[in-house]
Formats: sequence, structure tokens, C-alpha cells
Amino acid sequence: MKTGIQKTWETVLESLKLAVTAPTYNAYLKQTELLEVNEKDQDLLCKIACISPYAKNTLESKCAIQIKTELERILGKTCIITFVVQAKIASEKETLDSLPLFKTENVDSQFWKKARLREDYTFENYAVAGSNQMAFAASTAVGKRPGDTYNPLFIHGGVGVGKTHLMQSIGHFVISKGETSVLFCTGEEFTNDLVDAIKNKGTDKVRYKYRKVKILLIDDIQFIAGKPTVQEEFFHTFNAILRDGGQVVMTSDRPPSEISKLEERLKSRFAAGMIVDIGPADFELRSAILLIKAHQKNIPLSTNVAQFIATQVEGLRELEGILIKLHSMGEITQESAEKHLNVVKSSPTKFLIPSEITRVIGDFYGISVPLIKGDKRTKSIVVARQILMFILRDDLQLSYEEIGQLIGGRDHSTVMHAFEKISLLQKTDNKTNQDIHQIRKLLFITSG
Ligand code: ADP
Ligand code: MG
Repeated sequence: MKTGIQKTWETVLESLKLAVTAPTYNAYLKQTELLEVNEKDQDLLCKIACISPYAKNTLESKCAIQIKTELERILGKTCIITFVVQAKIASEKETLDSLPLFKTENVDSQFWKKARLREDYTFENYAVAGSNQMAFAASTAVGKRPGDTYNPLFIHGGVGVGKTHLMQSIGHFVISKGETSVLFCTGEEFTNDLVDAIKNKGTDKVRYKYRKVKILLIDDIQFIAGKPTVQEEFFHTFNAILRDGGQVVMTSDRPPSEISKLEERLKSRFAAGMIVDIGPADFELRSAILLIKAHQKNIPLSTNVAQFIATQVEGLRELEGILIKLHSMGEITQESAEKHLNVVKSSPTKFLIPSEITRVIGDFYGISVPLIKGDKRTKSIVVARQILMFILRDDLQLSYEEIGQLIGGRDHSTVMHAFEKISLLQKTDNKTNQDIHQIRKLLFITSG
């Protein structure tokens, strides 16, 4: 039986489906639920559940207005909407939301353990952004219709961009749907298994192990390149699985065409399905991943501090370790993060001289040195000028007077004002924080 609230929400989703892009819909909206509608004065307070902090941010910034408008159209009153994160959204829909969590956990856990999946590598713990949107869309499509849509699915990208996590999510998802013949292994494990089997004359067993699988997830397939026997065996495994209507998903550090010493027939088989790449995570994705990991581990972490850490750490693999380390030292604050991450600020700026800093900041903003030092008050020039003052003070510890002298003979109070303003913005505004981080990096490199 559906309640009125559920019906209302279904109607909202139906119309939003047409209003937003498919990836946004599938990744965020589909997995929402209208939890409560309460009257307050003349308005209605509507509480919407979504599955992750990242989904919450995205919905707030991308869909809030449309949701509000649609709810108001249906309910006929002004609606005030709020989003809450609630990992377990019970739902009757035939969608991504029926993840392992919503089923009898022990039953599923038996299967994902047997499939050799990591517990937390699921779609719901995966943040989606421009760099992985295509790969995510293809993976969810494969999860819903394994052996059908994209076969094989080939995901490539650099180290730590999220290939293994995404591939394992497909495994979790199909298991939650009742398909339990799933196996995850790396190209290296496949190779070792085969080599051992050949030594011990047990190739039949290994053949059976891999060929009978319905969904084979094979990570870092590039490992088999240059190994003729392994490639031969993999070729047959691959064909056998596809012939029986199964699904093969592979990852690699590069596209098939660029894997040297990979047999042509494998290259062409791989290219016959879907090839998608994952690019490096940008700052926002890194922040979202941190928030997801913190949420999973019940570690309190504010968005501001997550963003700060994301400006300092580029490798996704490091993020988790840093989070755990910071947490073990107590509450995670901007200060504790700065201290632990040994922020670039402490780099050897003694080599730097003001004229060099002025030039680097000018280059960074595309503004000439005379303009930065001059009197023009165009917004972009003022920003560059104030950041220059800030860095001269913060990194070179020059006095306000000295800085004023250096930058077109300004009064010390002007410099002080700029310094305070940028100090504040650095804590509250992403762009400023990122710019300063980038500039410091440039200064550090150019001075070294
Ligand atoms: P790869 O296999 O490409 O080297 P991994 O899948 O091992 O990368 O990812 C590295 C780390 O980053 C893992 O902890 C993973 O959970 C995390 N990660 C990567 N991408 C995402 C994402 N989009 N959302 C959440 N976590 C991610
Ligand atoms: Mg990997």
C-alpha cells in the first residue's frame, strides 16, 4: 500500500525526470524519499531523505527549486524543503536503492564476501562528478542489465581515480538483485591462479572457476599483457562467459588500444563493448569523497574542513588515511588539519622575494605587474592585489608599511584591511582558498 506522501513524491519524481539530466536523476533523485510533510503556520515543511552528503549537496544546489515548485504545484501551499542524509532509504521502486543494506544483510554478505568484494565499495558510497559521470552511468546500466547493455564494460583511468570501487559496486548491486554468481579478481590473481594450475596440472579446476561465473570483474587487466598463455586462457574465459549470457567488466590504467603486448583479438573483443574513462578528481569531488568516507566511519567532519583538506591532498587513496589519522588525534578542525598536513605555507619561502611573488601572482591572474601595483579598481585587479598583500604578509612576514611601500605606496591601513579580508575569505570562500593554495604551489616550485 502506498501512502499519500509516497504518491506525491512519485509524481514529483516523474516530472523532475523530464526536467533534469539523466545522470542527475539516476544518481541523486531516484534515491530520495519524501519523509514528512508538516504544517507550519501557512506553509508546509517538507523533509526529503537522500542517500549521501554528496547527494544532499547536489540536490540542494541543482534541484531544490524544481522540487519546491513541483511540491507546491501538487500540494497547493508554499513549501519549505529540507534534505536529510539517510543511508537506508526503504523503497519499493525497482532502482538502485535496493542495495545490500535493504536486504537481509547476512545473506548478501555471504555472497559479496564469496565474490571477494570490499564491503564499502558500493554505488551509494560513490560520489559522481564530471570526471566519472560516464563511467558511473555505464556501470549502473550494467548493474541493472548485466550481460546485456555494455558487454564487456572496460573502465580505464589513472591510479586512484576510483576504478576498483566503481567496478565492485556493480558486483554489490547485482548481488543485491539476487544474482550471486559474481567473482572479483585482479589480472595478477588470474595469472597466478593459472600459472599454479599449470604447474599442478589442475587447469580444469581453474577453467571451471572462472568460466562458470555469471559476472566476472577483473581488475587491472593490463597485467596479462605480454603473457601469451594467460591471454589465451583469458580469451577463452571471456568468450565462454559472454556465450552463456554473462557479463565481463574490466579495469585498466589505459584504454585497450594503448596496452602494448596485448593480443589483437583481445583488443578487438574489449573494444566491442563499452569503453569509458575516469579522469582525475577535481577539488569538489575530493571534498565529496571525504564527506562520504567520514559519514561511513561516523567521523564528524564539517564541509569547510573537508574542502580545506581537499585543497591540500590530491590523491584519493590518501584521503581515507588522512581522515583516519586526523580523527585519531581528536576533533578534526581546520587547525588540526593544517598542523598535520604540514600545509604548503611552511615551504621554504625564504628564497622568495617580493618582486618574484608579484610576478607569479600577476601571471596567475593574467594581470601585469604595473596594473597590480597601480590604482585601477577593477574587481579582478583588486582581488589579485589583495591576495598579493596577503601573501606578502603571511608568507614573508613583511610589515603592513613595507607592503604598502612595495605596492604603489599605499597606506598601511589599506594593507591591513586587505590582509584581514583575504584571511577571512580563505576560510569561507572556496575559490579564494583554492587560488591561494595554487599560488603557493607555484611559488614553492618556482623558488625551489
Ligand atoms: P583505482 O582503482 O582507480 O586505482 P580506487 O577504486 O582504489 O581507485 O579508489 C581509491 C580510493 O578512492 C578508494 O578509497 C575509493 O573508495 C575512493 N574513491 C575513488 N573515487 C571515489 C568516488 N567517486 N566516490 C567515493 N570514493 C571514491
Ligand atoms: Mg584499482
